[in-house]
Amino acid sequence: MQLYNTLSAKERAALIKEAGKDRLTISFYKYAHIGNTSIFRNHLFIHWNDLEVLGRIYVANEGINAQLSVPAENFGPFKEHLDSISFLENVRLNIAIEQDNLSFLKLKVKVRHKIVADGLNDKSFDVTNKGIHVGAEKFNELIEDPDTILVDMRNHYESEIGHFKNAITPDVDTFRDSLDIIEQDLADHKEDKKLVMYCTGGIRCEKASAYYKHKGFKQVYQLEGGIIEYTRQVTQKNLENKFRGKNFVFDHRRGERISEDVIAKCHQCGASCDEHVNCANEACHLLFIQCEACAEKMNNCCSDHCKEIHELPYEEQKALRKGKVVSNKIFKKGRSEVLKFKN
Ligand SMILES: [Zn+2]
Ligand SMILES: [Zn+2]
Repeated sequence: MQLYNTLSAKERAALIKEAGKDRLTISFYKYAHIGNTSIFRNHLFIHWNDLEVLGRIYVANEGINAQLSVPAENFGPFKEHLDSISFLENVRLNIAIEQDNLSFLKLKVKVRHKIVADGLNDKSFDVTNKGIHVGAEKFNELIEDPDTILVDMRNHYESEIGHFKNAITPDVDTFRDSLDIIEQDLADHKEDKKLVMYCTGGIRCEKASAYYKHKGFKQVYQLEGGIIEYTRQVTQKNLENKFRGKNFVFDHRRGERISEDVIAKCHQCGASCDEHVNCANEACHLLFIQCEACAEKMNNCCSDHCKEIHELPYEEQKALRKGKVVSNKIFKKGRSEVLKFKN
C-alpha cells in the first residue's frame, strides 16, 4: 500500500495542469487528544491520497494542523471523510480567497511533537483556559476601544505586508519570542487593559491566550478563525474591513490581498511593494520583498554575491553547496544585512 508520495513536485505540477481541475485551498486545525498518531496519520494519507488531496498536514498527540488543496469536485467526499472522524465533525474550514491550483504540489502528512512549534511547556499552564473568542463584528468594536491593546501574534515578515490598524506588530522571528516580548511590554496593564490578539487562522492564539491568562492578564480576547475567517465574515456581513494589506500564507502564493493598501517596501530599493520572493540562489533561499525592477536587475537574487553564484553553471553551484546547510530556510526568514530597506 502506498503511504508516501511517489511523484516529484515537478511531475505533480504537470499532472495538475493536465487534469485541468479547479482546486480549493483549505486550512483547518483542531486541538484534540490523538492517541496513536502514526495510525491516524496513515488513515488520513490513504483516504486523502485517493481524493487527490495535496498539502502539508501535521499530526501530534495534541491535535491536527492542516493546509491543503483538494479538487473542487472531491470536496463533498473530503468533507464527509472529515465528518466521519469524531473530533473533526463540523470543524471550521478556512477556504482561501484567492484560489491557486498549484498552491500545494505534494501530500505530506507528518507526525510531530506539536502541531505548532510554540516552544511552550504545556504542562506549566492550563491550555484549555483560553481567551474569549470573538467574530469580526465584535472584533471591530473591540479594537476601537481606548482600553484595548491589539497584538499581532505573527512574525515580522508576516505583519510587514499586512496587519490590522493600530496593532502592535512585534519584530520577532518566532512565536515563542513574541510571547515574552509582549508580556514584558504590557506588564503594567495586565488588569486594566483588554488584550486582544489575532493571527493567520487562529491557531497560535489558542495557546497564546491561555498562556497570557496564566501570566495574569485578566481580559484576554482572540479573533476566532484569525484573519482568514475575519475576511470571510467582513465580506459576507458587509462589515468595515480594518485589515490593511495582505495576509501572509504558508503556501506558494505567500500572500492573499485583503485590502488594496500596499504597506511594505521593496527591501532593495525602497519602492512601495508587498511581494515576497525567495532568493533564487538555492544555497540562500532568503525570504524577502522584491519589486519587479529589482528582480530583473538582480536576477531574482537578494545580493550581488547570490547573483554571482546563481549565474554559475548548475554543477558548479552544486559543488559550492556541498556540505553546507541552507540556514536561511530556518533561521533568517526575511533578515539580511544586504537588504537596505528592511525595517
Ligand atoms: Zn526594488
Ligand atoms: Zn540570497
